[in-house]
Amino acid sequence: MAAEALAAEAVASRLERQEEDIRWLWAEVQRLRDEQLNAPDRCQAEGPCLTREVAQLRAENRDLRYRLYRLRVCLAEELSHQIKMESAARAAAAQENAENAAAGAQPPSSQNQEKDVKKKEEERKPESEVKNQPNFIKERLKLFEMLKKEHQLLSATYEKKGNTSNMITVRLADGKTVQGEVWKTTPYQVAADISQELAENAVIAKVNGELWDLDRPLERDSTLELLMFDNEEAQAVYWHSSAHVLGEAMELYYGGHLCHGLPVDNGFYYDMFIEDRAVSSTELPALENMCKTILQEKQPFERLEVSKEVLLEMFKYNKFKCRILNEKVMTPTTTVYRCGSLVDLCEGPHVRHTGKIKTIKIFKNSSTYWEGNPEMETLQRIHGISFPDNKMMKSWEKLQEEAKKRDHRKIGTKQELFFFHDLSPGSCFFLPRGAFIYNTLMDFIREEYHRQNFMEVLSPNVYNNKLWEASGHWQHYREKMFTFDIEKDTFALKPMNCPGHCLMFAHRPRSWREMPIRFADFGVLHRNELSDTLSGLTQVRRFQQDDAHIFCTVEQIEEEIKGCLQFLQSVYSTFGFSFQLNLSTRPENFLGEIEMWDEAERQLQNSLMEFGKPWKMNPGHGAFYGPKIDIKIKDAIGRYHQCATIQLDFQLPVRFNLTYVSKDGDDKKNPVIIHRAILGSVERMIAILSENYGGKWPFWLSPRQVMVIPVEPTCEKYALQVSSEFFEEGFMTDVDLDHSCTLNMKIRNAQLAQYNFILVVGENEKTNNAVNLRTRENKIHGEISVTSAIDKLKNLKILRTINAEVEF
Ligand SMILES: [Zn+2]
Ligand SMILES: [Zn+2]
Repeated sequence: MAAEALAAEAVASRLERQEEDIRWLWAEVQRLRDEQLNAPDRCQAEGPCLTREVAQLRAENRDLRYRLYRLRVCLAEELSHQIKMESAARAAAAQENAENAAAGAQPPSSQNQEKDVKKKEEERKPESEVKNQPNFIKERLKLFEMLKKEHQLLSATYEKKGNTSNMITVRLADGKTVQGEVWKTTPYQVAADISQELAENAVIAKVNGELWDLDRPLERDSTLELLMFDNEEAQAVYWHSSAHVLGEAMELYYGGHLCHGLPVDNGFYYDMFIEDRAVSSTELPALENMCKTILQEKQPFERLEVSKEVLLEMFKYNKFKCRILNEKVMTPTTTVYRCGSLVDLCEGPHVRHTGKIKTIKIFKNSSTYWEGNPEMETLQRIHGISFPDNKMMKSWEKLQEEAKKRDHRKIGTKQELFFFHDLSPGSCFFLPRGAFIYNTLMDFIREEYHRQNFMEVLSPNVYNNKLWEASGHWQHYREKMFTFDIEKDTFALKPMNCPGHCLMFAHRPRSWREMPIRFADFGVLHRNELSDTLSGLTQVRRFQQDDAHIFCTVEQIEEEIKGCLQFLQSVYSTFGFSFQLNLSTRPENFLGEIEMWDEAERQLQNSLMEFGKPWKMNPGHGAFYGPKIDIKIKDAIGRYHQCATIQLDFQLPVRFNLTYVSKDGDDKKNPVIIHRAILGSVERMIAILSENYGGKWPFWLSPRQVMVIPVEPTCEKYALQVSSEFFEEGFMTDVDLDHSCTLNMKIRNAQLAQYNFILVVGENEKTNNAVNLRTRENKIHGEISVTSAIDKLKNLKILRTINAEVEF
């Protein structure tokens, strides 16, 4: 330890000397510059002034730059030397301690002194830091502070250089412009000049289209947007920053090694490797309290750019961060951010300080694997959520409760729709009433197919891996495929229908006359999802989609997309969903010709314009093989789900060498493929619909449409006859002949079981060949003849009326 202190002292004094050197050199440069500028014989000619002083100034400048460079190199050397010395000193101290302990000796006085220092340090520590803080935290912080000092020295010189520079123009979102100073003015200052409230409410800035820390100085003329929490990108920054807070608390609490921390759709998580234990949910309240302390401390997020080499040293205790550095960081330097005791690899940006996060909740833990790979280390994942005000947290909590009540797994069990079994994880068993919903959904889509000229096909489930090699799945999707060997060849269950449909397109020569070809397929798909990610019907291994592939010419894109959008509108409005549309365009790593992309994107925009619903542009977010329209539906409790796909594909036709003969006789024309689904996975859609309706299925989709109840035993025969009449007309009908229940109880039970219509039959009804009709909400429609009841219900079913009980 003494050696460590000595080394630190040496570095500190060296830093001081270097600071002095730099100050002196800069003063010298300034002096020379001033002299030159004030010289009476200053050159007035155009072009570069070549007075002696300028030449001297330039030489001095070059010299200064070189010296700065050397200083940096020296410092890095010093740093790594110091780190080596420290670890040697630690090893020696450990040995000494062991020897002392063995000899029963008193610790030497230097160690007592050290203890005193430690005690004082602990007194100064903020509350969030617990005792027995892991050693790596201290060492990492020390290194960070050293690097920060070095950085400050360099930027101090840089700022001086910036003194000569000038004003910049900042254009705000409303078109107004303000003046600022380059390298000085920050988005936060611009906002504060407009209103303090605006500055405080802004989560993050967007400068020239790039997300930008609010305290990061502007570097040139800029456009500036201030994003509030209601903006999706700002939310991601907010939750990303919150993940750092959680990471900081987890390190202090568990002492394990942090892996990845990310914002998700609703909140954030952090993964940690803990050698010898798992996280228990009983620990979450304590962890949440630590997070709250971190928020109170308003820890700033400090950014530093550091060389990969030094970072490998900084994170040497953590093999996961080293893996990220070695495998993911391709540049010589990258950034780390500090908040409190945590220094983390991160590209930013963040909120200004942890105090910007007003409320936080740590609500769930689970286990996972490093990068989702079961062959790799098991990690502990902890989930949290945070908001800028308590009201939002309260409504989120309410939503969670509501969602829990509506959980499709509960509804599935209660209504006997489906179940899962350990002997086939991730593959659902649909019981008769669940199968009814499944088939009704497919029938609905089939009807639309017929209307919109889609042709249904059936294609194989098992393919030779040569097909998957051709499609690229073997290279990029293999770990999600179920594969097996048959007679020396490898086969796989299909995870998607597209490659099979390409074989169908290629099976004979195609002409422009038959395009577009629209193949629809409800084929069974299998994806090998990790067992611990399986969850009810939302994440399964076996599923079917209302999948279709449109093979069309480039010129036909606009018309086809319009058709897809109308299809989507007709299906979603039947369910009662509203939806959002986004157009994702060419990403940086796109494949194919740029003209083709431009043309396709132009046509997609036209289709969206003509469709007439609001939509947003999502530039650069298309897939590498084609642009797409992202669709999100909104459910009854305000959650968004992505179900539909409208994705253009320029690459698959090339990979499968698909061609058609064009109008002008060119027989080498590649079609464009549009991957398209509206329900998406039928399984997942059933989960979403269950939760959206909370188990109160609309009549046309309901697995319990009609319940017939006799008033007394003498009417039972008539009740059975009525029930079979409704059943023959295609309704899901039951009759309650239980003698142990009173009439009122039977009605109540049928209502609780969500039968849409309850038909009570007594002597009167028997005489009149009628029923007494009421709904599950106990709206009493009264006596009506059996035939007109059947007619009315048939009509409501055909129209797929969402509130048939009211409209009856
Ligand atoms: Zn970060
Ligand atoms: Zn596809």
